[in-house]
Amino acid sequence: MAENQDHEKQYVGFATLPNQVHRKSVKKGFDFTLMVAGESGLGKSTLVNSLFLTDLYKDRKLLNAEERINQTVEIIKHTVDIEEKGVKLKLTIVDTPGFGDAVNNTECWKPITDYIDQQFEQYFRDESGLNRKNIQDNRVHCCLYFISPFGHGLRPVDVEFMKALHEKVNIVPLIAKADCLIPSEIRKLKERIREEIDKFGIKVYQFPECDSDEDEEFKQQDRELKESAPFAVIGSNTVVEAKGQRVRGRLYPWGIVEVENQAHCDFVKLRNMLIRTHMHDLKDVTCDVHYENYRAQCIQQMTSKLTQDNRIESPIPILPLPTPDTETEKLIKMKDEEVSTICACASWMLELESRESLQGCPIEVVLRLPLLCPPVGSWGGGQG
Ligand code: GDP
Repeated sequence: MAENQDHEKQYVGFATLPNQVHRKSVKKGFDFTLMVAGESGLGKSTLVNSLFLTDLYKDRKLLNAEERINQTVEIIKHTVDIEEKGVKLKLTIVDTPGFGDAVNNTECWKPITDYIDQQFEQYFRDESGLNRKNIQDNRVHCCLYFISPFGHGLRPVDVEFMKALHEKVNIVPLIAKADCLIPSEIRKLKERIREEIDKFGIKVYQFPECDSDEDEEFKQQDRELKESAPFAVIGSNTVVEAKGQRVRGRLYPWGIVEVENQAHCDFVKLRNMLIRTHMHDLKDVTCDVHYENYRAQCIQQMTSKLTQDNRIESPIPILPLPTPDTETEKLIKMKDEEVSTICACASWMLELESRESLQGCPIEVVLRLPLLCPPVGSWGGGQG
């Protein structure tokens, strides 16, 4: 009993901080933006549907070969709100149909890099703005890049795409439609891709080091995860019956390939990594590395421009700003008034302090002398 009381006395309460953070974040909800890129027909939409068990592509219009000859890359955003055990996730999928589909694919990644930069720019602008409380984060946190299972490694367009994006976004390369290859072919292709990624100096997303105090099971999972990259995945929009159980899979005349069977593909590893274990790290790296790079570049450009021009210019690339609505105008006016009141108050106090009769008097006493203070309306006039 006494021991318990002693314990209570020593308990200040900051041990509840994680719970407070947890409650607040659950209330606020989470967001995550995932980009998918790769040649059309590699199973991007099917995989996204399999990952999040939603049908995000109901209204998709597929183009025929003629339409695709001169096709430019489009950026299409799909947003869904998903909830699981009371935790809300606003998931945005950024699709890039048309990538690598045209006859001439020179710089076909440009609309994609531009899109990522625009999101950084918008965030930078919002962060430097007046109302920073409700900033919407549309920065791309991860890009799943689909590699064809039919080649002998990376194609030139894969190398160019990843090199153009690796400083801007976390790239997770995937071998698409892995059911088209036998296990030894998958092993060989993975090895080849890893070698080429090294050879061309491509920086794909690096899984963080596992903490030394993690348990052995977690460490083993982490090792397996790292060894499996690039993940070989299979997607399916249909549920089939395998060994008496209904599973997501693909039914062939010779058998069933199960999407969630770890002996068949790395789908579960990818899903665990993306959703259960590394979603937060992907967001942190986006914010602390990729966005910081963008921000540093912006500020550097601004300073060099300043030294060149020797005059003040906006640090942020100028986009046409929307005309302020009444709410924003009210906020600006309020802030202006606050600033001028503080300035006036400060100059009045300086003046009071300098008055001979009050010298040596504590500031509390000075402030209690109402007759000495000018009416509030006359603050800012300067001469009291
Ligand atoms: P996207 O254009 O990259 O979005 O590709 P889709 O998801 O529309 O898939 C194109 C075709 O490939 C469809 O007929 C899918 O059923 C099929 N497909 C999707 N994923 C796989 C897979 O993992 N293995 C195989 N064999 N086919 C797949």
